[in-house]
Amino acid sequence: MNRYAELAERFGTPLYVYDLDEVEAARAELFEALPEGSHVYYALKANPHPDIARAVREGAGDGAACRAEISSGGELAAAMEAGFDPADCLYTGPGKTTAELEDALTAGVRTFSTDSVTDVRRVGAAAVRHGLVADCLLRVNGAQAGATTGIRMTGRPSQFGFDIEQLPEALPELRRTEGVRPAGLHFFPLSNAEDEAGLIGEFAHTLVQAATIEEELDLPLTVLDLGGGFAAPYGVPGARSSYPKLRAELRSLLDTHLPGWRDGAPAVAFESGRYLVACAGTLLLGVTNVKESRARTFVVLDGGINAFGGLSGLGRLLPAAVGLDGAPSVTTASLVGPLCTPGDVLGREVDVPLLRPGDVVAVPNAGAYGVSASLLAFLGRPAPAEVVVRGREIVSASRLEYRRSPLPTEPTW
Ligand SMILES: *Cc1c(COP(=O)(O)O)cnc(C)c1O
Repeated sequence: MNRYAELAERFGTPLYVYDLDEVEAARAELFEALPEGSHVYYALKANPHPDIARAVREGAGDGAACRAEISSGGELAAAMEAGFDPADCLYTGPGKTTAELEDALTAGVRTFSTDSVTDVRRVGAAAVRHGLVADCLLRVNGAQAGATTGIRMTGRPSQFGFDIEQLPEALPELRRTEGVRPAGLHFFPLSNAEDEAGLIGEFAHTLVQAATIEEELDLPLTVLDLGGGFAAPYGVPGARSSYPKLRAELRSLLDTHLPGWRDGAPAVAFESGRYLVACAGTLLLGVTNVKESRARTFVVLDGGINAFGGLSGLGRLLPAAVGLDGAPSVTTASLVGPLCTPGDVLGREVDVPLLRPGDVVAVPNAGAYGVSASLLAFLGRPAPAEVVVRGREIVSASRLEYRRSPLPTEPTW
């Protein structure tokens, strides 16, 4: 029997259950792994549910509260609903439009991560219209780790960030742009780094680049956002990665490269999505059918890539694990969803317990890149219900709705 079976019965499946105690545990662990005084930006794209975002924001009164990293009007609204101070929001993304910048400035957002000269100019123009000066972090598309240091180096082509070797040429132009103040640097070189040594190596490499840019280009480094990469399992059993050496290593790296950090110059920031929320979520799916086809077993579930679509949407198929509490896996089967596409597969030939129609199975560690990363409208099923709990207390129960709304129009064009 699944530990959330009662909730599945009450709200139906597919159903996400999020436990806020888990969110708070993850937040506390992350702050413990980072140097004291670090800022952490929560990437709302991992899970923009307002109750989740609120739990991420609320610190234990010890300053361990997250800020928000947002990248759209929807995420801005979610962050505001969750009570984030707009002054603590970092607005990112390579395609910021004038309209969304206007909305962000109106809401009180003042810090933007920028990816190109055009982007900085657009932020500046919007800020000037508001009679403001916005802080721009320059996102850096740095050199790959292992390359030689110094700013004349190359990384991968990307829509994100300024190529580090182009910064010397771009900076004078950025400095002349009205309405913006270059305030620091933003790096985000990797995601989901399970290996602590690898993560530390990447931060070391980033710090060398940041210090080099500050020195060679005389860039005021008020804020240094070092990105993240803190790992958590995705739809499979397991625990968040732990980083027992990270805090001490980061402190000594910062002391070496940017000694002013202890006095807040620069303020050091990190970013995290999945680490903060993945383990707080469980996805409950009903078994609609168990079918044999040419000696293979297909477990047909009532939610697939329309409910947990990040698996395929991110171009990967992870072997999502489904469990029935206590039931051992005894056979292999493909876990498929209800959609009329052969692409609706959550796991191919994975180990499963004996399942029958009517069973409710649980996908563990599904709190990040769940509902919001799914193909919600494809095939027209309702979005999964989302229940937020804290222990035995139900904090909220809701479902995302999408509907067509007519636009004002003339009869001909
Ligand atoms: C997606 C994203 C994150 C969060 O990544 P996780 O792997 O979920 O921690 C952080 N920063 C930026 C800029 C992102 O785009």
